[in-house]
Amino acid sequence: MSAETAAGETGAAGGSGCWCCGRVTAEDALIRLGNHPEVGVCVSCVRFLSRRARDYQASAVRSRLRGAAESVRSQVMSRGWHERPVVGPALKWINRHVPW
Ligand SMILES: [Zn+2]
Repeated sequence: MSAETAAGETGAAGGSGCWCCGRVTAEDALIRLGNHPEVGVCVSCVRFLSRRARDYQASAVRSRLRGAAESVRSQVMSRGWHERPVVGPALKWINRHVPW
């Protein structure tokens, strides 16, 4: 018996196993995947997967923002704006306090 068939087996009380954590739960409590209806995931694992997806999206957005900031920073440096009397200190302050 493979791990896939074991996870999808029907439990003794008529429930099915979650394909993520393996816990046997009621059939109604499992969320089925669209293209793979044989795969059921319990509500706790759906929440966990949702958090993982949100973290992944946040890191992708942070990465894009960091790239844009690096591009702006290199343009400022190449034009020497950071050495100008009034704008320079403001740009240096921004550079120190940007979170990415
Ligand atoms: Zn689960």
